[in-house]
Amino acid sequence: MNPPGAPKPSNARRDLAEWVAYLGEIGVRELRHELDDPPGPDPAALLAEIRADLGECTRCKLHAGRTKIVFGVGNPRAKLMLVGEGPGADEDLKGEPFVGRAGKKLDEMIRAIGLERAQVYIANVVKCRPPNNRDPEPDEIGTCSPFLARQIEAIRPKVIVTLGSPATRTLLETRVGITQLRGTWHSYRGIPVMPTYHPAYLLRQYTTENRRKVFEDLKAARARMDD
Ligand code: URA
Repeated sequence: MNPPGAPKPSNARRDLAEWVAYLGEIGVRELRHELDDPPGPDPAALLAEIRADLGECTRCKLHAGRTKIVFGVGNPRAKLMLVGEGPGADEDLKGEPFVGRAGKKLDEMIRAIGLERAQVYIANVVKCRPPNNRDPEPDEIGTCSPFLARQIEAIRPKVIVTLGSPATRTLLETRVGITQLRGTWHSYRGIPVMPTYHPAYLLRQYTTENRRKVFEDLKAARARMDD
């Protein structure tokens, strides 16, 4: 049988050389496909679709005070996704999550487990800054979190780390506090979730004990990610 694109047999020696070249080429193509472009919908395209659906959103009252929508950033094929509560002042200006002081701490936390920011995906429960950095309110979370759910569905990370109470409570649909939930595994639609302290909390309560706890949580997430 002569598969499409395969050389037409003519003389035996040339056939052999052409077949070796042909098989080498499809081998490389298959390998590339496996590494960069596994079968299934393209997460980058799905994320672009979700961003387009969000548009210049006015669905909840947070839109009135925002400068930029903070959609999310990172690798659309990330194995690890980190979820915060909502943008602060720096994020609102830049349109990117975790770029202020808490963001620098988050970058350190990511590096501590041998990863770079560009390798993971970072998003928030609400995409617009709550006034005076208050926690997002239930109606705002109710309106905005379906977009986070779609982001998670598009990326299909192996592990999610929730940062702080509002993100943890939203994804796990619980009222239990972060102190009780952190350090143990939970699940969001079949994806393992490790809650940990928010980097802003860590900066406020910068004790050896809290730093150790966050590091333990992230190490557990890294190990699960590499399973
Ligand atoms: N805190 C969050 O929860 N998210 C950000 O993007 C920045 C600070």
